[in-house]
Amino acid sequence: MPQKTFPMTEKTRIKRGANRASYDRDLAYQIIDEAMVCHVGFAVKDQPYVIPTFPWRVGDFLYIHGAKGGHMPGQVADGGKACIDITLLDGLVLARSAFHHSVNYRSVIVFGEGQRVDHVEEKADLLDRMITKIDPARARAVRAANKKELARTSVIGFGLKEVSVKVRSGPPVDDEEDYALPVWAGVLPVSLTAGGLQTDPQLMADVPMPDAAAWSVFGAPQQR
Ligand SMILES: Cc1cc2nc3c(=O)[nH]c(=O)nc-3n(C[C@H](O)[C@H](O)[C@H](O)COP(=O)(O)OP(=O)(O)OC[C@H]3O[C@@H](n4cnc5c(N)ncnc54)[C@H](O)[C@@H]3O)c2cc1C
Repeated sequence: MPQKTFPMTEKTRIKRGANRASYDRDLAYQIIDEAMVCHVGFAVKDQPYVIPTFPWRVGDFLYIHGAKGGHMPGQVADGGKACIDITLLDGLVLARSAFHHSVNYRSVIVFGEGQRVDHVEEKADLLDRMITKIDPARARAVRAANKKELARTSVIGFGLKEVSVKVRSGPPVDDEEDYALPVWAGVLPVSLTAGGLQTDPQLMADVPMPDAAAWSVFGAPQQR
């Protein structure tokens, strides 16, 4: 059984804003499970790169995928070091002074070394779970990746071992004298929401529309 909290390491010790730090595994996993974007940072010689991609989690592993032969997969897949950021923006924090403007957020940083998934059935299962993250019903309905598609795809796992979480919530924190300023202050909550579905013009007739607003990536709990 993994520990309920991640151990704090030299790399993951939150120095700035330590009151917002957490190493809680469940909280980190909630954030990862809600996120549809992560940024994978890696260095080639002395040049850093950051590449956005789609993250999903299975147990204590974070997965990403990419085209075989792609730069980022090639750099991180076989034990390459990466630092992955996953951030959910929750609100704009509007203070009375320019200086104290901020944002409410939940963010996770993962340090790890990529492990390429070679086993074809494991790869197929993981890609199925990627679609499941969006909507389990969709994963059951779509055509699964075939052998050729699987061969063209790299799936890379990162063990969730060295992880930090930072969360800001609540109103602005202004300087004492600024509370007397006649400037509106507070929080403007923001969230990712589903827009209206835009049907593919080539869709066959009579195919039912999914209820995208109910998907868990938009905050709705879902049966896995
Ligand atoms: C959307 C967004 C906007 C932000 N805007 C600003 C801004 O404008 N100015 C600003 O100063 N800060 C901002 N932050 C906070 C920022 O992410 C850093 O936490 C902060 O700048 C301190 O950086 P540092 O390198 O000094 O952190 P340190 O405390 O030195 O970092 C040490 C370790 O703490 C962990 N850590 C640091 N930050 C985070 C994090 N956000 N989430 C998870 N783990 C973390 C990492 O493991 C890192 O290696 C923002 C955060 C988010 C999510």
